[in-house]
Amino acid sequence: MPDTAPASWEARAESSSFYGFTDLPSVKARGTVVITHGEGPYVIDTNGRRYLDGNSGLWNMVAGFDHAGLTEAAKAQYDRFPGYHAFFGRMSDQTVMLSEKLIEVSPYERGRVFYTNSGSEANDTLVKMLWFLARAEDQPRRRKILTRKNAYHGVTAVSASMTGKPYNELFGLPLPDFIHLTCPHYWREGRPGETEAQFTARMAAELEEVIAREGAETIAGFFAEPVMGAGGAIPPSAGYFQAIQPILKKHGIPLISDEVICGFGRTGHVWGCETYDFVPDAIISSKALTAGYFPMGAVILGPDLADRLHRASEAVEEFPHGFTASGHPVGCAIALKAIDVILNEGLLENVRRLTPLFEEGMNRLAENPNIGEFRGKGLMGALEAVADKPTKTPFPSTLSVSERIANTCTDHGLICRPLGQSIVLCPPFILTEGQMDEMFTKLEAALGEVFAGLGAEA
Ligand code: PMP
Repeated sequence: MPDTAPASWEARAESSSFYGFTDLPSVKARGTVVITHGEGPYVIDTNGRRYLDGNSGLWNMVAGFDHAGLTEAAKAQYDRFPGYHAFFGRMSDQTVMLSEKLIEVSPYERGRVFYTNSGSEANDTLVKMLWFLARAEDQPRRRKILTRKNAYHGVTAVSASMTGKPYNELFGLPLPDFIHLTCPHYWREGRPGETEAQFTARMAAELEEVIAREGAETIAGFFAEPVMGAGGAIPPSAGYFQAIQPILKKHGIPLISDEVICGFGRTGHVWGCETYDFVPDAIISSKALTAGYFPMGAVILGPDLADRLHRASEAVEEFPHGFTASGHPVGCAIALKAIDVILNEGLLENVRRLTPLFEEGMNRLAENPNIGEFRGKGLMGALEAVADKPTKTPFPSTLSVSERIANTCTDHGLICRPLGQSIVLCPPFILTEGQMDEMFTKLEAALGEVFAGLGAEA
């Protein structure tokens, strides 16, 4: 008999893993949750504890964690043809079918699709496409990329440069030529006495000023999430896209909709740009594209960019870019099934049906004197904690309020995400009303405990 107990899963994880996006002191204090499997919207850890995953994994597991149709689609494709690429004029039949399907469900009558393994790579790819196009069209100075503060576009060097988060300074990023405009969050960024319409007009004026300052001929594109996800589920101020798109159009600057989170139903329509009533020049998709059952991203080019890029790569030079697993047949077969499940098995309908209940539950919790704002769209939303509601004063960051709330939720069997001073929920689309109730009951209990604890500390 060994005289030492076998190491726990937590200990094994902690001695063998280098953690990303993880607060290590908190892991040290609380241990790592090692998940073995899932059932519907729940995940189960090595200790047999069940958690309702109010975050759909990372916004992606929209069909839950055990959808038989999706795993069957994967198995069937593994049996047919388990892997291929999309280089040198070869690609799998599944890749062709998925591109046709993506164009069919896109806002475009025609277009072209390029595949990656992730959302970050899809953003990187489109930036490289725009740079490639600028040189091919003899406008080599068109290199600058506009995004917004608080935006999240990924972690690779280019997509991290697009991401408007201060932590990128830790890497010496952003790279030159990445410019971050004001986050269009009226509740936080609006000035005293400013109406929402005035705020939106100010966002548009800022864009005009930046274009005038930098020179339109130096700007390659403007990337925006319809609802900012990892910024804290922040919808744009009313009329934002209608205000900025004409300015971009006037200056020949493509508007790119980063739909990695919003795409495939999260906001109640297939695309966030549909929800906000604008047609971008291209769409970045990932996450729900495969319902999280395969790592995949896609760049969906609208007709203008598709034609110009195709011309450039035909007339000037091939586009020297691609990933080994671009257009992977198993990923494409899963994406085809995921799109079918979301559109034809009632998932999108369920998002629409549950949205009023979700809003009702969130609004009820927002009555708490320490919740300053509920914001969101469809099945994504955030509650922002405040120390003082009338003045919107945040808690000192040293108190880690949102982390405390999220940890307390975990103790109650609910996974939700702390983002800044907010708690974000974006449950799977398969949620039932009973599971929605469970989510709010657990979150309400956690909010009560944490705010009472903070009161006692103060
Ligand atoms: N864009 C958005 C809007 C995202 O939310 C994310 C990931 N959360 C990304 C891009 C990056 O995707 P990935 O993590 O797959 O690289």
